Amino acid sequence: MSRRIVLATRNAGKVRELREILAQVLGRLDCELVGVDEFAELEDVAETGTTFEENALLKARYVAEATGLPALADDSGLAVDVLGGAPGVFSARWSGRHGDDAANLNLLLAQVSDVPEDHRGAAFVCCAALVLPDGRIATREGRFPGKLTREPRGENGFGYDPILQVAGDTRTAAELPPEEKNAISHRGKAFTALAQDIEALLGA
Ligand code: IMP
Repeated sequence: MSRRIVLATRNAGKVRELREILAQVLGRLDCELVGVDEFAELEDVAETGTTFEENALLKARYVAEATGLPALADDSGLAVDVLGGAPGVFSARWSGRHGDDAANLNLLLAQVSDVPEDHRGAAFVCCAALVLPDGRIATREGRFPGKLTREPRGENGFGYDPILQVAGDTRTAAELPPEEKNAISHRGKAFTALAQDIEALLGA
């Protein structure tokens, strides 16, 4: 019977995306990736960390301890160079209302309205974490770099996608077709890198 690895999310789409990204390593280790919804007793973890890594580890540690199974988690957001990495872990609630994408990005654009072109660098950042029930951990970071636009552009995606112009491209992340964004995304890069840790820690 195949072993299970638990992904700390209730989002079925994220579980599907991660099954694809990790397909090779999951196949080699004969492991199945499942979401936390398979474990009725699990609660949601408060994201109280001040870095993506802390929050990803908080979520993965809780799930590994509660289930006794290896756990994966991620945390992500937008890091703006001139703001020292903010909104960072506060990306989803930058305007004070959790998940209000329009209010969050409009506030951010207003905050950097005087910042000239050359200093508008920013990146979506993701930390992916693996925690084993015996306490061993691994973390990896993925970045999706670009620069802030002056106005939102594009209808795809979510969050700050309409205001991040992709590095080396004229389009924003919200103007990329979803497959194109997923292929170069911060989450994809972080979990692709973490695959080698999954293999090393679970394959032994
Ligand atoms: P979470 O890691 O899924 O909780 O994402 C935190 C927040 O970061 C989201 O609510 C968005 O505001 C922002 N964010 C993370 N990844 C992306 C992305 O790929 N595009 C746009 N916004 C993102």
